[in-house]
Amino acid sequence: MSPSSGRAERLAAAVHERGLDLLLVSNLVNVRWLTGFTGSNALVIIGGSGEDAARILLSDFRYTTQIEEQVPPTWDRREATQELVGPALAEHLPPAGGGTPPRVGFEDRAITVHQLERIREAIGDRAELVPAGSLVEGLREVKDAGEVSRIREAARLADIALSEVVGQGLIGRTEAQVALDLEVAMRRHGAEAISFPPIVASGTHGALPHAEPRAVPIEAGVLVTIDWGAQLEGYCSDCTRTFATGEISEDERAVYDVVLRAQETSLAAVRPGRSGREIDAVARDIITEAGHGDAFGHGLGHGVGLEIHEAPRLSRLAPETPLAEGMIVTVEPGIYLPGRFGVRIEDLVVITAMGSDVLNTLPKDLQVVG
Ligand code: ZN
Ligand code: ZN
Repeated sequence: MSPSSGRAERLAAAVHERGLDLLLVSNLVNVRWLTGFTGSNALVIIGGSGEDAARILLSDFRYTTQIEEQVPPTWDRREATQELVGPALAEHLPPAGGGTPPRVGFEDRAITVHQLERIREAIGDRAELVPAGSLVEGLREVKDAGEVSRIREAARLADIALSEVVGQGLIGRTEAQVALDLEVAMRRHGAEAISFPPIVASGTHGALPHAEPRAVPIEAGVLVTIDWGAQLEGYCSDCTRTFATGEISEDERAVYDVVLRAQETSLAAVRPGRSGREIDAVARDIITEAGHGDAFGHGLGHGVGLEIHEAPRLSRLAPETPLAEGMIVTVEPGIYLPGRFGVRIEDLVVITAMGSDVLNTLPKDLQVVG
């Protein structure tokens, strides 16, 4: 399904507002969001409006047919190797020597020094190349109905897959086996891919926020953190649950309860108009008050879309800009006690006019699994 041309028009307006004549989009995820093209080599040149509009997608011979299938004809679709990007761009620039040179933005987080030098050589002093930050990422923050429904469906099938896998028991299976079974179950239920390699972390490994599953059997009487997600038509889901395999200690139970309270309270605070920093503080205050502030070393959450981690962020360092309806974010506080255990609980939510709509359906009160 091709994205609507509204995206290109909104981006062109943002390019103009930023004081740029053209923008080079080299981040392939941004190219996909704009044009629908899913290949591995492309560059977009965009800017202007009406007769002066540049809506150019450059790629190479391998993708000619794919581009015809994926990219609407409103885009000027051209075959060009990376070496020809400069000349293609030069076509859209006025001849040299005429007043102030046009300003051409580039995605400074997503272009190589090599690419930039090639472009510089091709256009010489006919344009000023300007780092333009993350203009497209800013527009990607608010999802449209089609994006929300894909992420909702990815979250739904990921939940089904997890219930199936955990339903077969955890004790005695290795973390790696559980992770593999989860990947297979997600694919079988319709995921085109996984959104990231699942984390299955039991016992002391639960204290590693991004633990890699080990070939180590899961023991009875420990906590097991599972963080997983499915991908559907490019869109990701993300969820975490922490299970107990039998009787756990009072300390483990207490930490679980703190994380759950922080998760539910901060989740209830999500609504348009509040900043990611404020919502992070809601969870962080609860965890800090319980004496575990230092053990919650990451942000409360992140945007999810074509990428598993994207804007906006919910963290101490997030900007004060308010969250808006249509954003999709995670809410995932955790407490990690090195050498002992860890707990994280994560939901994926769409921000609605009144608050948020949770996309996961799995229970959050402590589930004991044999
Ligand atoms: Zn996650
Ligand atoms: Zn996450």
